[in-house]
Amino acid sequence: MIRINENYLKLQSSYLFVEIANRVSVYQQENPEADIIRLGIGDVTRALPPACTQAFSQGVKEMAVDATFRGYGPEQGYDFLRDKIAANDYQARGADISSDEIFVSDGSKCDSANIQELFAGDIRLAIPDPVYPVYLDTNVMAGRTGEFADGRYDKILYMDSLPENGFVPNLPAQPVDLIYLCFPNNPTGASISGDTLKLWVDYARENKALILYDAAYEAFIRDRSLPRSIFEIKGAREVAIEFRSFSKTAGFTGTRCAFTVVPKTCMAYDGNGRKHSLHALWNRRHSTKFNGVSYPVQRAAEAVYSQEGKVQVQELVDYYLNNAALIRKEMATLGFEFAGGENSPYIWVNCMRDAWEFFDLLLKKAGVVTTPGPGFGKCGEGFIRISAFNSYTNVEKAMTRIREALGAELS
Ligand SMILES: *Cc1c(COP(=O)(O)O)cnc(C)c1O
Repeated sequence: MIRINENYLKLQSSYLFVEIANRVSVYQQENPEADIIRLGIGDVTRALPPACTQAFSQGVKEMAVDATFRGYGPEQGYDFLRDKIAANDYQARGADISSDEIFVSDGSKCDSANIQELFAGDIRLAIPDPVYPVYLDTNVMAGRTGEFADGRYDKILYMDSLPENGFVPNLPAQPVDLIYLCFPNNPTGASISGDTLKLWVDYARENKALILYDAAYEAFIRDRSLPRSIFEIKGAREVAIEFRSFSKTAGFTGTRCAFTVVPKTCMAYDGNGRKHSLHALWNRRHSTKFNGVSYPVQRAAEAVYSQEGKVQVQELVDYYLNNAALIRKEMATLGFEFAGGENSPYIWVNCMRDAWEFFDLLLKKAGVVTTPGPGFGKCGEGFIRISAFNSYTNVEKAMTRIREALGAELS
């Protein structure tokens, strides 16, 4: 009898997006003429930068000729890409990271999901609430949690992100081993200052803990005082792993390219307290289970660092930030409190009522789809996430409709 991994039965997931899709489809059937605007998805909507598509097609052309054809490449990524990442994203910002500490992959979702297999089954986890569900669900699958009850899994330290703490969790009050952080945050849009991030690095150093830092939205940081990488913080090389992606930075969600940074000085411990290099372990995992990102895609990612590429990526991100600014302005005018939308494509709105009720109101009265906060965790109750990933015209139209719908509701 073939038996399943029963940890999978503990998973709650997929409820959120299934429920959103159901409600939208019911509304659409009842209102076939309705022009629905989706500000719910965490996916980009604009084309790849021309510098990237040019490099991409050049890569394809090379694959069409025997003399320049490439088969398997290095699992960790080609040097041409790793060198540019290290130089531009790290060394240029004073972060001491070398090319061979960078592992190119097909996505931060996979990397942030897979990393947990390097660690023991009984480590103590600290996971933010609300949260990008991947961190939580992959630990559920691995059996690190107990059952789900009353909105939370047993055996996880949930780090509440609330208006009271500016959506930046407080340091854990009880000892933990593995800490997930994501800044600028999905879903709250909050960012973290260098001083606060330093407190986390110091905590990890003192407690022999490890920080998994998801910086998927770093390209949205416009405030120059904010760190773009945890490795800009002194002492982080021993206690942090960072995930980065070209998905939100350069529109690669459908093209697939990301990377994970594991410094050679980053250590974890065996049962006898002996140190082991996480770089060596991750290298072993990566080269055993992964065969590299396609050559043309790595060329397309390399182009992000060219002169034209940098300008185009900046324009791309600025476009979404401009949408976000409009959403912020509108929410402020309507009297809502919110986080994010600066240094982030997400605006996390306190809806001052039940989140699903507000979701339904925006859908039915304004034809606008948002994401209800409870889908990201218990602390998301009473919030919705509005995404700036859409055209400016659609965002403008959505904001006008929301203003009219809420105006009508209030009067
Ligand atoms: C979009 C996103 C990613 C990137 O995922 P990819 O697999 O690289 O497309 C990572 N983390 C968070 C929090 C995200 O929202």
